[in-house]
Amino acid sequence: MKNVAVIGAGTMGNGIAHTFAQSGFKVQLIDISEPALKRGIDTISKNLDRMIAKEKITESDKAETLGNITTFTSVSEGVEYASLVVEAATENIDLKLKIFKDLDAACPDDTILATNTSSISITQIAAVTSRPDMVIGMHFMNPVPIMKLVEIIRGYNTSDEVTNTIMDLSKKLGKVPTEVNDYPGFVANRILMPMINESIETLYNGVAGVVEIDTVMKLGMAHPMGPLQLADFIGLDVCLSILEVMYDGFKNPKYAPCPLLVNMVRAGKLGVKSGEGFYDYSESKKAEKVASQFN
Ligand code: NAD
Repeated sequence: MKNVAVIGAGTMGNGIAHTFAQSGFKVQLIDISEPALKRGIDTISKNLDRMIAKEKITESDKAETLGNITTFTSVSEGVEYASLVVEAATENIDLKLKIFKDLDAACPDDTILATNTSSISITQIAAVTSRPDMVIGMHFMNPVPIMKLVEIIRGYNTSDEVTNTIMDLSKKLGKVPTEVNDYPGFVANRILMPMINESIETLYNGVAGVVEIDTVMKLGMAHPMGPLQLADFIGLDVCLSILEVMYDGFKNPKYAPCPLLVNMVRAGKLGVKSGEGFYDYSESKKAEKVASQFN
């Protein structure tokens, strides 16, 4: 496996592209516009600079990693030689179904199609392709170059061969793959999102302020980051989408998104990526401070 196409150059897509490129794969990074691709490449470049400053890599490693990435602005471009596609576009079911239909038509018959979705059914995505046995969830964690876990989600029809290939590949990237089954939110978000949602409810009910809630969870539960800060880091729109998928999938009110979360997303307060969420990231230093907690 040499060529890997990555769909989406946002928070996760640029991290996934970075990780594959640094491991020597040729990466075709695809997003809908040149500015989105430029933002993605700029982020990879900045993250590589941070690794140089910490003497983890050299300038020439950086040049080699960036040299392994080429960019394209259409899903059907850049996939003709891909052995694997990892889709990391916006968390929206209709968008993902369309992307997978397009990928199925454009990719060679033996290309494995993976999705980085946080919660959407792998089985449903696989069903719009002619190769449901070759569709799998490859759920990287944020920030991808740092975090070790990859949740590997088997759809109803995913083959053993494809699962084993993706488990082995994840190990080659230096990750720890963990196999789970295909139910809403899988494992990571089924447990994480109710905690984040409850933290937002706690704020909404006036029990405590943002800093106080995060301090209780950081110092009291030994979490490296408070749940509200983590929600900002994930993206409040992403959190809302995941909760909606779980609420819809289980029909259980415990997954109903807090009205405050809904309002903040409607108001465009999406967290680090929009410059404001539960915290203010308007100065770039503040956002960097959050990112540096992981490094
Ligand atoms: P994001 O909003 O940061 O980036 C999404 C990118 O997808 C944007 O650059 C957008 O332009 C691009 N895009 C939209 N439509 C596209 C199309 N048709 N073709 C190509 N690119 C397209 O979102 P994100 O946080 O990177 O999330 C991406 C995926 O990763 C989602 O499925 C999300 O659930 C999942 N995920 C997110 C996190 C997290 O912490 N943010 C963690 C794990 C998984």
